[in-house]
Amino acid sequence: MKSSEMRSRERLLVLSLVTIFCFLLTTVVLLGTLSLMGPYASKNDHLKTKNVFYPEPKTEAVRQKPALTYKQVTNNKKSYRLASLLQKMLKTHPRPADDYFGFNATRSDEISVKRDVPDARPSECKNRNFKYSSLPTLSIVTPFYNEALTPLLRHVHAILSRTPPQLLIEVILVDDNSTFSYLGEDLQEYFRILDSRIRIIRNKERKGLILSRLQGEEEARGEVVVFLDAHMEVCEGWAEPLLERIKSQPSIVVQAHPIPINDHTIGLDTGTRARCIGGFGWDMRYIWFTLPPYLNQFRGSDWEPFPTPVLQGSCIAVRKSYFNAVGRFDPGLEIWGGEHFDLSFNVWMTGGRIETVPCSVVGHIYKGNKYSFGSNEKEYTIFKNNLRVSEIWMDEYIFFVRAALSHIRNPLPVFTEAELRSLQERKKLRQERNSKSFAWFLKSVHTEQMVPSKEDVFFGEIKNTKSEQCWFVFEDEYVGTTVRCDLIIKEKTFSLDRYGRLKYLGRCVGYEESTFLLRIKECPSKSESKTSMTWVHANDSLMTAYHSEYICAIQAKSTFPIHTGKDLVQLQMCDKQKEYQTWTFMFRF
Ligand code: UDP
Ligand code: MN
Repeated sequence: MKSSEMRSRERLLVLSLVTIFCFLLTTVVLLGTLSLMGPYASKNDHLKTKNVFYPEPKTEAVRQKPALTYKQVTNNKKSYRLASLLQKMLKTHPRPADDYFGFNATRSDEISVKRDVPDARPSECKNRNFKYSSLPTLSIVTPFYNEALTPLLRHVHAILSRTPPQLLIEVILVDDNSTFSYLGEDLQEYFRILDSRIRIIRNKERKGLILSRLQGEEEARGEVVVFLDAHMEVCEGWAEPLLERIKSQPSIVVQAHPIPINDHTIGLDTGTRARCIGGFGWDMRYIWFTLPPYLNQFRGSDWEPFPTPVLQGSCIAVRKSYFNAVGRFDPGLEIWGGEHFDLSFNVWMTGGRIETVPCSVVGHIYKGNKYSFGSNEKEYTIFKNNLRVSEIWMDEYIFFVRAALSHIRNPLPVFTEAELRSLQERKKLRQERNSKSFAWFLKSVHTEQMVPSKEDVFFGEIKNTKSEQCWFVFEDEYVGTTVRCDLIIKEKTFSLDRYGRLKYLGRCVGYEESTFLLRIKECPSKSESKTSMTWVHANDSLMTAYHSEYICAIQAKSTFPIHTGKDLVQLQMCDKQKEYQTWTFMFRF
């Protein structure tokens, strides 16, 4: 038993020795192999050794697409963080009701902040190629004051996804001392995660749109600065055609074609085409004029840029150096208003040029500004800004601006001594830049603008308060009405002078005795009072003398074959109950 026991013990010992030897050999070989790979081991080689311990297919899959998988993981992670921050901003911070913003912010919150929008450009724009390396770089400057959250996020996402990355230097958001908490730290964190090119400047006190834009521009490092509003959404290919225009002309300011973002559905209204030029009204309201045919003479087609007298203000692109050379926006303008008039008059009158670029399409929520205007009320501030601009640029034509504004607000805002001094500084700057006169501007640039005479009391479109249609002179010189009000053309511009003459393009409005329809005739002399061509505008009625009484102008459907279906203006017995008897003029002096 003992000897057999001994034999089996010996066998066990040999087996153990062989096992230990084999183990040592394997270890040495393994270690040797690893040490041989040493510094030359490639990144993925550790996976090869790991393969020994893990099933083949799984490690193979990881090894084949490491970069892609990693990127996907980080993007998903980034998207996830952005999405959860967005939820936090929407859910944990209070916001005012939609009414405060003046549009359907609730609907906006339901729509993705990274949505696609339809391509509303004229088709020719879509096939254009640009030499990107020769285009100037751009910085975007967007001031915001108590804006709704999701349009602001959509604004930034749209810029990032639709601007060539090699050209976009930065997006500078200037927070004009907003008071809502959802525009605070969480928003800052959101933009930090989203893209390192986004910067937020926080104003310590409210400065208004103009100074905020100036502050953003001061810090901009791009060759071109684009001023946008926080509730604008740039569309496909918006930047290139603007930059291309600026590249080839040193003294130019260009603007995109703004299309409305519907304030209820938040969808883009892609039906509008750039067919208007911007101008001013005599009370300094912004008005659109039909694109005059002569401006088309240099254009091959609808998509080509065209000059415009006045910038509409919400998407302005300008070379930083040129913007500074003309003296920037007037920093004496407060909170909101007037700066687009100031820059437009300045640029044109000192040898520059302004153009609308139809291939650059940008959506804008038109909402009316409901925010507070600081210590003064809104109308006071806007009127004061506009008076300042007129004082600086409009020479003797300020007469009409003062007259028109003082019928709306009396007394007019007054300037402090310091404000008058800074106003004189701007006038001096104008002189130093050898500015042309405002008369030149009207004669050479804003040629569609009708200039009143100093004898005029009422001026502009005559609009029916019920139908909202406007007087319009047909080719046969009868006066009818058109639904196309507010798009200014000469055929709709009338004036009533202090002698009671209702004038139209150097002639006067009278009536046909057989039909009592209004028709254009030669003017009576100033001294001829109380003729059938003497008019009175009172209590919104337009009346003329008929025997011993007055008869009133009324909008009526034509019963005459040559004007079938058209609305004409006819004289009838005055009757306060008649719905179509009241008319307003655009301006009163
Ligand atoms: N804004 C500002 N401070 C102000 C008033 C306006 O920063 O005191 C911003 C506003 O948030 C918007 C831009 O300036 O991004 C233009 O204002 P708004 O859209 O009201 O002008 P509108 O489109 O009515 O001309
Ligand atoms: Mn706006």
